[in-house]
Amino acid sequence: MALIITDECINCDVCEPECPNHAISQGDEIYQIDPARCTECVGHFAEPQCVQVCPVECIHKDPDREEDRATLYERYLNLTRQ
Ligand code: SF4
Ligand code: SF4
Repeated sequence: MALIITDECINCDVCEPECPNHAISQGDEIYQIDPARCTECVGHFAEPQCVQVCPVECIHKDPDREEDRATLYERYLNLTRQ
């Protein structure tokens, strides 16, 4: 599943440059993740990089966007083909 940033985000800017898929951007009030670009880092890293660096642990799996590893890997392939 794609990840989601909760309103506990403190806009520290640390996660955005760590995302290999350019899925993270500054939203109106807090940072946000584009679910069409988030692969949970599948294809790039063993662990979600944004989760690793977030100092307030406000990035979680989105229960409304459950996706299996094959789906995430297919997204990775599509994104890297562009
Ligand atoms: S899990 Fe990986 S791909 Fe998804 S937003 Fe975080 S850094 Fe980007
Ligand atoms: S690292 Fe966490 S607190 Fe910092 S901008 Fe990203 S989501 Fe927000």
